[in-house]
Amino acid sequence: MDHNSSETKKVVTRFAPSPTGFMHIGGVRTALFAYLYARKNNGTFILRIEDTDKEREVPGSIDHIQNSLRWLGITWDYGPGMETPFGSCIQSERLPLYIEFAHKLIEKGLAYPDPYTPEEVAAFKETAIAEKRPFLIRDHRPESFCTWDGTKPLRLKVPEIKRYVWQDVVRGELSAGPEMLDDVVLIKSDGYPTYNFAHIIDDLLMGVTHIMRADEFISSMPKFLSIYDALEIPYPVFVTLPPILRDDRTKKLGKRDGAKDILDYRADGYLPSAMMNFLALTGWNPGTEQEVFSHDELITAFDITKIQKAGAAFNEEKLLWMNRQHLNLLTPEEFATFLTPAIPASFKSAPQYNNETLARLVPTIRERINTLTEFQAEVEHGEYDWAFTAPTYDTDILKWKNDTDVKQARPRLQKALELLKNADFSSSETIKATLWPYAEEVGKGELLWPLRVCLSGKVQSPDPFTLAYTIGQLETLARIQSACDKIGE
Ligand code: GLU
Repeated sequence: MDHNSSETKKVVTRFAPSPTGFMHIGGVRTALFAYLYARKNNGTFILRIEDTDKEREVPGSIDHIQNSLRWLGITWDYGPGMETPFGSCIQSERLPLYIEFAHKLIEKGLAYPDPYTPEEVAAFKETAIAEKRPFLIRDHRPESFCTWDGTKPLRLKVPEIKRYVWQDVVRGELSAGPEMLDDVVLIKSDGYPTYNFAHIIDDLLMGVTHIMRADEFISSMPKFLSIYDALEIPYPVFVTLPPILRDDRTKKLGKRDGAKDILDYRADGYLPSAMMNFLALTGWNPGTEQEVFSHDELITAFDITKIQKAGAAFNEEKLLWMNRQHLNLLTPEEFATFLTPAIPASFKSAPQYNNETLARLVPTIRERINTLTEFQAEVEHGEYDWAFTAPTYDTDILKWKNDTDVKQARPRLQKALELLKNADFSSSETIKATLWPYAEEVGKGELLWPLRVCLSGKVQSPDPFTLAYTIGQLETLARIQSACDKIGE
């Protein structure tokens, strides 16, 4: 048998999640690597739903999986509900195929109905434990096999009890002794295939050339290989991805360590491009200094031989940093679109709210936030209220620290008013250029402090040129005039 034949075929990869309601980081990273490898090789990427364990199934999961991948920008060539050359991409809709393959094995004498009740199997197990030897159901294999009527589990008769040696792109040569081989269940008594059996049939029929999956499957490899051998089908290429560890690397990242569902990161205001980039670097590196990648750059750079063997630490700070890098790549229009879902109703109903002012505010927001959630928190703290509503404040806060009386601010504000009447408001720089000589003449703080406070109503805010540019000329003049009036003669 040619176990390497898949290498010359068109690359086909798949992501095969079970619909259990949660899309953890590790699952999405598996999907991403399989996707990148398929795209890099102009291959095919399949989304297959492994729903043969009906007890674990959570309604709505298939939509959740698809929405998660779509959010990240991972597209599939074949998936649930699509026309394909190999039938449905949902395992529960492929049951006759597994039965057909089960019969092939029965005909070859390589599968048999389990003659035991679950209680009898449990008793064998207990005895083995009591006698301190490994429990293997193949030790209890019946002398002759009766006909399978579907009411009993169908088991594999391991074709050859031997040591298995196999190749893994990431782990290199791996092996396991015969004690790891057993007569695994192929079809359960409910008529559904086991994962062990179904994924092998599907990978065969779907032409899958490369299997990328988590390391928890390594211990099952001898069982998988015995099924490939029983069916006389070639092995695909195995690519075992490194585990994702907690940031302190003490153990695998779990829900308790803050591992969230992928769409929670969307809700937290991360960009999908940043998340994709971050996940790609969780267990893979391009072998260069480059860290920030667009979707297309990742496809070009991706190389399965650079997937690391060692566990990859999940670092939330790195994710935040990555989000910042990707926010910097957005055009102002794209950034505004990113903010849109978080623009509160209170802004929209504010007296001076309009799209032009919002567009001028965008650069200020962009400088200050790493995620949409941070923006929301700033909005809640009233950080941007000045942009759309004339501020109310206590006149006292207009007083610069060197001044003895707030009235000292008045002539400076009046001069600013005069200068700004004829100023160029096309950018904060042009506004600064208009005011700067006077600020230097009178003392910077003396002018800039009251100016900034009267435009924002706050002792802490962006610089006065940014404020003036954002709210526009008319509003700037009105706010300065109002401060002069409040100070009085
Ligand atoms: N259904 C399995 C899981 O969700 C897929 C494993 C595989 O990729 O073969 O973990």
